[in-house]
Amino acid sequence: MARVTDRDHFEASVSENVSLAPLTTLQIGGSARYFAEVRSSEQMLSGIQWAAWRGVPLFVLGGGSNIVVSDQGFPGLVLHNVISGIEMQPAAGDSMLVTAGSGEHWDDLVKLAVANNLAGVECLSGIPGSVGATPIQNVGAYGQEVSDTMVRLTALDTVAGATVVMESTDCGFAYRTSRFKTADSGRFVVTSVTYRLHLNGEPGIRYAELRRYLEERGNERASLGEVRDAVLAIRRAKAMVIDPADPDSRSVGSFFVNPVVPLDALAEIERKMEGDSQSTAAVPWFRVPGGMVKLSAAWLIEHSGFARGYQHGRVGLSSKHTLAIVTREGGTAREVMELAGEIQEKVWAKFGVMLVPEPGFVGLEC
Ligand SMILES: Cc1cc2nc3c(=O)[nH]c(=O)nc-3n(C[C@H](O)[C@H](O)[C@H](O)COP(=O)(O)OP(=O)(O)OC[C@H]3O[C@@H](n4cnc5c(N)ncnc54)[C@H](O)[C@@H]3O)c2cc1C
Repeated sequence: MARVTDRDHFEASVSENVSLAPLTTLQIGGSARYFAEVRSSEQMLSGIQWAAWRGVPLFVLGGGSNIVVSDQGFPGLVLHNVISGIEMQPAAGDSMLVTAGSGEHWDDLVKLAVANNLAGVECLSGIPGSVGATPIQNVGAYGQEVSDTMVRLTALDTVAGATVVMESTDCGFAYRTSRFKTADSGRFVVTSVTYRLHLNGEPGIRYAELRRYLEERGNERASLGEVRDAVLAIRRAKAMVIDPADPDSRSVGSFFVNPVVPLDALAEIERKMEGDSQSTAAVPWFRVPGGMVKLSAAWLIEHSGFARGYQHGRVGLSSKHTLAIVTREGGTAREVMELAGEIQEKVWAKFGVMLVPEPGFVGLEC
């Protein structure tokens, strides 16, 4: 346990009934019963111990870009992580180890990497949120995932009350998930992350949409900076970059992960589409390891009767992308959950595929 002096010191930084909506990209939800901003791993540990001492639940908040907060708020302590600092250390083979405090903005790190001609994260440009959240769901986009470059992380183990260092191979990374989102959900609080980036490395231009975008502009041999700009432009067109002037960016990005199913499930869906007199569209799918195929959640949603801009009360689907649930002024978490449920039901009824939500739910039973 923390010494009484540590606890008293931490208690002085705790506020009560702090509205969480402005700290999230959906801009909805109630208040945190207790709230503190945390600038160091020592403060984070004091916060963890304070919550245990008070017997209240704990939630670690980064940029709030992948959570839905209940309208009733959160009955425990929210620790808002703003642990900062970025260090670069030259390493073997023209690589650079970049270590960032978990409260740093992810896109600031990407921008810094590209400015220093370091390859490995350029396709992850424009993703909102904090560095510390990137390992939680193995953040990925446009052909890169953080697990490609992450070497290790430092975390506080809330069960053992100790600092732990985990190598990338210890993190259970897979498509849009990790041990931090599954078996060890809520157990570890990430305080810093180290990535290995490559000096003067080739930009990753593997993803078909990105390659097409560059080819159309005669720029197949784009630099890291040009790839970053291309990714940002593609993302902006889908409201996948936070922009206060674009109401379609009031989202958590994709609300559902793309389902990964066995080949025979794909065959069943294709049979259903053949019997659909309304549609001649081919089912898009991508082969993934383990004899499985990845389906497009957006496509399944569109072919279950939802159009872009679909409204449900004061929430709805983005007018640019059916995979993003967006909130309008006065929207509630209840409405978001109702719409998410309606989508799940209709996709299940039509295709027999249960869509799995991507964001975390705070103070909500799911
Ligand atoms: C417009 C938009 C576009 C997006 N595009 C993408 C995309 O292309 N690819 C993608 O993968 N995601 C995308 N996202 C989702 C989101 O940005 C990422 O998941 C991001 O990593 C979340 O970071 P955050 O700091 O906002 O996390 P939060 O929303 O604050 O938290 C998310 C979860 O991580 C946990 N967490 C946060 N920090 C820590 C920590 N230090 N230690 C332990 N747990 C922690 C929280 O407790 C919570 O469970 C998008 C979101 C938006 C709004």
